[in-house]
Amino acid sequence: MINQNFKMDFHTHTNYSPDSKTDMKKSILTAIEKNITDLAFTDHVDFDADIDSGIGDWDFDRNKYEEEIKFYQAKFEDQINLYHGLEIGVQPHLTDRNRDVVKMNQYDFVIASLHSVERRDLYHKKYFENHSDIDAIRIYFESYFESVKTFKDYSVLGHLDLYVRYKEELENVAFHKYNDHVEALLRMVIEDGKGIEINTGGYRYGLKYANPNRSFLELYKELKGEILTIGSDAHTPDFLGHKYDETVHLLKEIGFKYVSIFEQLKPKFIKL
Ligand SMILES: [Zn+2]
Ligand SMILES: [Zn+2]
Repeated sequence: MINQNFKMDFHTHTNYSPDSKTDMKKSILTAIEKNITDLAFTDHVDFDADIDSGIGDWDFDRNKYEEEIKFYQAKFEDQINLYHGLEIGVQPHLTDRNRDVVKMNQYDFVIASLHSVERRDLYHKKYFENHSDIDAIRIYFESYFESVKTFKDYSVLGHLDLYVRYKEELENVAFHKYNDHVEALLRMVIEDGKGIEINTGGYRYGLKYANPNRSFLELYKELKGEILTIGSDAHTPDFLGHKYDETVHLLKEIGFKYVSIFEQLKPKFIKL
């Protein structure tokens, strides 16, 4: 399918997420204004998220969420394609709980993100105090690998090198020092018929690139990875579709010919 006007945002948050105040309708209207044709809502479910701050489970009324998305799908069907998604926080001990969540509703798209390592949310940075830079990265990828070794109810991995958002110096650790970890993870993703996302949310944190960065994308291409989604990780409407054209440009430069959208958890390829 070739669509000159196609523009996707497959990672967005609304006020169903505890860290966003955005009204769903406002997001939709802004997305239409920004000429986004395919918009997925991916609110947070993140269990056992952080032992230090006492944040236990991030969750919300998932039935109401589904109803609201369905309502707007019908209401705006001539103007935009809307998708029922979820960003689920994976950790090795959460597989059963997360599987139950995904089975409970009919999703189009599920992002598996690793926000917490050793039950510490990277956002609070305590994790980095206890590890050298290289260990912080390696343990993060080991934990991601262990999580998706058993949890398979997802579509793509979220912001694969998320840790640079919170400790940008980790970007300076040479890729060859941990690329075997990344490769093992990506091989499993590809073998399982899953994909990865490119997440432009890092720009909001002052990064000069999307996550994951180019080295990861080149490795993914080399391993014959094909499923890729683009998302802004917008928690407010103004960031919807952020840096979309630059991201498409980067993907083409690396040699990718398609991005994917997901409907009822099945990928559909869209030519770039
Ligand atoms: Zn995330
Ligand atoms: Zn997110």
